[in-house]
Amino acid sequence: MDKWPIGVFASIDAGLGVKLEVAQELGIPTIQLHAPAKESRTPERAKEFLAKLEAMGITITAVFGGFEGESYADIPTVVRTVGLVPPETRAQRTAEMKEIADFAKLLGCDVAALHIGFVPHDTSDPMYAEVIGVAQGLCDHCAGNGQRLHLETGQESADGLLQFIGDVGRDNLFINFDPANMILYGSGEPIEALKKVGKYVRSVHCKDATWADKPGEEWGAEVPLGQGAVGMETFVRTLAELGYTGPLTIEREIPQEPDRQKAEIGAGVDLLTALKAKIG
Ligand code: MG
Repeated sequence: MDKWPIGVFASIDAGLGVKLEVAQELGIPTIQLHAPAKESRTPERAKEFLAKLEAMGITITAVFGGFEGESYADIPTVVRTVGLVPPETRAQRTAEMKEIADFAKLLGCDVAALHIGFVPHDTSDPMYAEVIGVAQGLCDHCAGNGQRLHLETGQESADGLLQFIGDVGRDNLFINFDPANMILYGSGEPIEALKKVGKYVRSVHCKDATWADKPGEEWGAEVPLGQGAVGMETFVRTLAELGYTGPLTIEREIPQEPDRQKAEIGAGVDLLTALKAKIG
């Protein structure tokens, strides 16, 4: 694959992300796929789907897990509902995440990824050790499929994330770095965080945001690429300094406004194309 292929977060029949047709119309060569519904995760559907992607000239670079009952409405709701941390859904979702990794394998994709949830910041919290165990089990399952597991950033500070990865202790555990999430969740200055965790970054979300008045308590606002506080040129330059050559996957989370979403993703493609020419 070429250096820094542009991508977009996409879905087929379930989950967040734009429709494949949007990627095709915008000439975007790669996608990260939000996991389709359980009934679609079959060998037959994988084959059909791969044929469709091939006809469109699109490559999948990661399959993202997502689960029923997750809500990103506000920060307390994320803590309560997202990922593998909430105890009441943990066992069932962990099993489902393994199925999603198996489906990614059917698609020939060597990266499974997810928001693991709000890992307790206090490492002496018994839940911290439980989540470490869950992550180890998932990494081992992915390793059996010849896959890496990428953790979406946002909820943890860079130091918290380094501690967690170190404690999991698996060599196929990496990071999907989302600079806007650092701002949205108030977890730290994104470029500084990227430099700290850089050696683990194997995929990124190109997303932008503005800070909340009370970072960490309330959401910042997600905004079109280049209009927020990330600093996209500095972001791409920092990726270059780190030796990152993977996809630049645009994420724009306004599914309720598909026309605006498509226009803004198109503008994001233009911005990244210009930055690639300038920096790459
Ligand atoms: Mg993201």
